[in-house]
Amino acid sequence: MRIAVTGGGGFLGSHLCEALLRRGDAVVCLDNFSTGRPENIAHLRKFPAFEFIHSDVSVAADVPGPLDAVAHLASPASPPDYLRLPLETLAVGSRGTENALELARRNHARFLLASTSEVYGDPLVHPQEEEYWGNVNPVGPRSVYDEAKRYAEAVSLAYHRSHGVDVGIIRIFNTYGPRMRPHDGRVVTSFINQALGGEPLTVYGDGKQTRSFCYVSDLIRGLVAMLDASVTGPINLGNPDEWTVSELAQLVLEITGSDSEIQYHPLPTDDPTRRRPVITRAREHLGWYPEVSVADGVHRTVEWFRGRPHDDGLLAAF
Ligand code: NAD
Ligand code: UDP
Repeated sequence: MRIAVTGGGGFLGSHLCEALLRRGDAVVCLDNFSTGRPENIAHLRKFPAFEFIHSDVSVAADVPGPLDAVAHLASPASPPDYLRLPLETLAVGSRGTENALELARRNHARFLLASTSEVYGDPLVHPQEEEYWGNVNPVGPRSVYDEAKRYAEAVSLAYHRSHGVDVGIIRIFNTYGPRMRPHDGRVVTSFINQALGGEPLTVYGDGKQTRSFCYVSDLIRGLVAMLDASVTGPINLGNPDEWTVSELAQLVLEITGSDSEIQYHPLPTDDPTRRRPVITRAREHLGWYPEVSVADGVHRTVEWFRGRPHDDGLLAAF
């Protein structure tokens, strides 16, 4: 297959490009490096089937030649990133998604949308199954991301219904691992880098809010399965193992052996209080479930940030 990956220079996108190349697909990566990094894909240049197009997909998503699939991952994803880039985030979720859908429509290609658990907002139903419509503040600071992704889902399904585009929507829950930017502000990266640097771990609020953390290799396996499937979804992908932020801080301290203290900071506006995916659909439609425990995944990520990548054949499964 020949697959376009928007946002392919980012954390998840670069792993997806690599997984597809390793199994023999040709990959066209589109990125503007607003939150991604050229070094994420530098090692992919050795694959003759890898192409890179520097482009802002909110302006245009054009790829010469035929495509079998378009995976649309372009979007700031870390809260500090999308709060810093509010209009760009709305643009790539709306116009960027429309441009990527047009690319898929012109090529009669499968379209994979990387949506998010943020469509559930601060959920009133727990754990979250795909039938839940969510509880999003449409005018709060996070709305630039949440509402952009909700629109992206809506316009994807409109293209499916009106133009017959073969759409697949994945709702990704907090995913972490190698290639995250050390200062991207997300909780796993922040805690690991604070612990390794001997700085205080910054817990927001009372640390009792929860998230469910998925290791990158598991998540990528699910994205590839969704690309290969013909199901529309939406389908949750995430590790249902739910942790409080305080528990995560303790785990990072244990794994790093750091004696950093914990420092409490105000909870950001509209920070969701809890998050855990129901993954029955992923199991039934994709045969997918996470295999890497949070302790193991955090250990591997710590080693990567220490500059000693754990040789776990991260993506050997492909
Ligand atoms: P990331 O910031 O590392 O990657 C996003 C990539 O998109 C970057 O390389 C960035 O430069 C690129 N990009 C942004 N705007 C663009 C534009 N207009 N044109 C071209 N490229 C653009 O983030 P990530 O964690 O890899 O997230 C990838 C996707 O997965 C995002 O759509 C995100 O919303 C979704 N997601 C991620 C998580 C997670 O926990 N990592 C959770 C839910 C959803
Ligand atoms: N968080 C924290 N300290 C940090 C960064 C984040 O306590 O240095 C908290 C944040 O308030 C949220 C959780 O960790 O409750 C997950 O935050 P992240 O930004 O990683 O993801 P998201 O909020 O998008 O789920």
